[in-house]
Amino acid sequence: MLYALNDAGYQAFIVGGGVRDILIGLKPKDFDIATDATPEQIRAIFRNSRIIGRRFRIVHVHFGREIIEVSTFRAITGENVEIVESRLSRHDAHLDSVHSASGMILRDNVYGTIEEDVLRRDFTANALYYTVRNFAVHDYVNGMADVDLRILRMIGDPEQRYREDPVRVLRAIRLAAKLNFAIEPATAAPLRPCAQLLTSIPSARLFDEFMKLFFSGYGEKTFLLLQHYGVFGILFPGTAIAMLDDDGHYQHMLHSAFRNTDARIDADKSVTPAFLLAIILWPALQKKQKALEKGGMPPAMALNDAAQAVLGQQLERISIPRRFSLPMREIWDMQLRISQRRGKKAELLLGHKRFRAGYDFLLLREAAGEQLDGLGQWWTEYQAANPELQTQMQTSLEAGSAPHAKPRRRRAKSRHPHNTAPASGS
Ligand code: ATP
Ligand code: MG
Repeated sequence: MLYALNDAGYQAFIVGGGVRDILIGLKPKDFDIATDATPEQIRAIFRNSRIIGRRFRIVHVHFGREIIEVSTFRAITGENVEIVESRLSRHDAHLDSVHSASGMILRDNVYGTIEEDVLRRDFTANALYYTVRNFAVHDYVNGMADVDLRILRMIGDPEQRYREDPVRVLRAIRLAAKLNFAIEPATAAPLRPCAQLLTSIPSARLFDEFMKLFFSGYGEKTFLLLQHYGVFGILFPGTAIAMLDDDGHYQHMLHSAFRNTDARIDADKSVTPAFLLAIILWPALQKKQKALEKGGMPPAMALNDAAQAVLGQQLERISIPRRFSLPMREIWDMQLRISQRRGKKAELLLGHKRFRAGYDFLLLREAAGEQLDGLGQWWTEYQAANPELQTQMQTSLEAGSAPHAKPRRRRAKSRHPHNTAPASGS
């Protein structure tokens, strides 16, 4: 890639997470390339490529199943010329020209030089440019030193950069968790006050970020940091409110869920947002459901109405695609059904497509300290039992409920003479 661009006479660098991850000994998730070639020029070099994006066009080059993102150096628009001046004293000569050329020309021309591209990036560790021309890393913002110190430092004025793009609040937290970097104090200070700005981000973009936060293998640590900086409550307001009067068991439940997810990702097992979302939103659901039941609503209806309300509220922040929200609600429904084991219900439930997820969810609830009369244990044994033993378990369940059943039977019998009495009397 780099060679092909170089051969065609362009500059080309690997930049961002790829360089950073290699430097700290992680396996890069992907490689991003920055170049002074325009999207059209890039396309002309790589046949298997496509230009995507409207605001700032980048090129996706396909290599079999892999996609490499190639972006043209971005120019600095009027708003961040100041950052240029304060940050790049070493490049004064060049910046003068940027500054004098700022205004109309720069704003019209979205493409810039590598020095300008540097300043559009978020953290110093993400602004290292690797070239195969002399196999060197170009470092304009002391990113190398910060990588060595394991520090995440915002380029420019942190608060201003969060305001420009509030998603950087999430990126700071996610990368600190992923890289095990400390967030430099001036970079960390505006996190809490700027978290609120995330409410202006389209909910679809926040879903993408949600996926990166919790499905990259370090969700538990991310969750801790999100809570620490007051960001979790912005992403999941209903849950945060319900957890205000938590006795610790929701906290425990969410922790184990994130830990399990991390472990499954580590073991290359499948993970689904439906299950994790069912857990994250569970505290909000329970709060609402209990309130409705207190008002006299039957459990099944309360669950349904609460699910509707909680999901509706959550969608205002994070758009959850239906293919995840439907199974999420089925997992919730399963919590009610799994407690009803009479007659043939248990046997039928075993064959339900959401039984397994519902059962796993139940175990998490119990592990977190919810008192459910050994329901999880019962299902564990029931699933392992042969048909004979299953019938036996069923019977002992009915026997256990005999004290309830008896009076009903007696009443039924005594009603008989009553009912027939008027008939015989007439
Ligand atoms: P990951 O390990 O998740 O891939 P990354 O840092 O590579 O982390 P990407 O989303 O792949 O993240 O972005 C690639 C690079 O683009 C970043 O390293 C950074 O330089 C730049 N970048 C991405 N998002 C932003 C943003 N919101 N603001 C400024 N620069 C950004
Ligand atoms: Mg990346």
